[in-house]
Amino acid sequence: MDIRNSLKGISRRSFLKAATAASAVAVAAPTAVTIEHRSRELEIEHRIARFLEDQLKTLSQFVWEEAPGPVEHLGNGLRYSPLNANKAFDNVRLFDSPVVAFASATDPLFEELKRPNVIGPNHMSPRQWLPNAKTVISYYYPLSEEIRASNRQAGIPSIMWLAGKASAEVFVYNTNKALTQFFAGLNATSVIPDTDSRFKMVRNGNTLLPSWSERHVGYVAGLGTFGLHKSLITEKGCAGRLGSLITTLELKPTTRPYRNKNAYCLFYLNGSCIACIDRCPGHAVTKTGNNQAAMCMKYSKETVVPAIAPLPYKGGCGKCLTSAPCEIGIPKGIKRLT
Ligand code: SF4
Ligand code: SF4
Repeated sequence: MDIRNSLKGISRRSFLKAATAASAVAVAAPTAVTIEHRSRELEIEHRIARFLEDQLKTLSQFVWEEAPGPVEHLGNGLRYSPLNANKAFDNVRLFDSPVVAFASATDPLFEELKRPNVIGPNHMSPRQWLPNAKTVISYYYPLSEEIRASNRQAGIPSIMWLAGKASAEVFVYNTNKALTQFFAGLNATSVIPDTDSRFKMVRNGNTLLPSWSERHVGYVAGLGTFGLHKSLITEKGCAGRLGSLITTLELKPTTRPYRNKNAYCLFYLNGSCIACIDRCPGHAVTKTGNNQAAMCMKYSKETVVPAIAPLPYKGGCGKCLTSAPCEIGIPKGIKRLT
């Protein structure tokens, strides 16, 4: 769901009227109860979309200084930065408008993620996190043009990129917290796997396997597909931040607008692109995909971290995500199914 387009020029009343009319056409002989239920679902989906959009107005600047609590809570090495991102980057905008998608908590694809050749048995299904879960909400915020542009040069990642990615962690943390309160107001319970105490990373050789993968969950929900660089390519690209949460609220699942897990990548479509291989300074992205996580981590640890010290950031450099045809959308020549 493209939030900006979905909200543009639509009043709540006309939105509900149109939605109800569409339901009436699409379903043969609908009952009044069915229409009323779908209208309520659409109203809630609309409110979630507006809620995510509104987050940009209040939380979209760099937030390292403003949110010391959540930064500490994440416990992944993020701390207050002496670089003071706010002043250093003149309050540059963090994100552009997001996209959101909904999966049924019982979608069989969640079980597929437990297979050893996907993630493994360590990956927990929505109902393992929350026994009476109904819906998984997955969303993606693209990093702003300023931040993405700063990282298009070769070499060490730009400080603005690193600061943006770190701030994005805090932003998504705060967004998930606020969404949890939003659902509580609708009498629904929610769980945020990413910051739940049961979240684990299990080592498997050179890779770490998460008990909840934002990328894979996004794929199941219909948000996007995997590129050769293994990031999720959404209709707003891959250079941004994913977030998700599980709730007992029942919403209509998004229809996945693709037929396979690599549908939005030109390499898998016709072999016409290897931009992410060419862009990767750590030689981590390859046509086979072997050993990528370990090579990426090695490059980050041995080259990026010493170069940017004292900034305590441990993530990747993001060169494979910028200056690539999938940076800000589905590459030209690939059609999203409607
Ligand atoms: S840069 Fe090209 S090959 Fe790499 S993920 Fe994007 S579309 Fe696929
Ligand atoms: S984050 Fe950097 S090192 Fe890691 S795969 Fe992407 S380009 Fe390569």
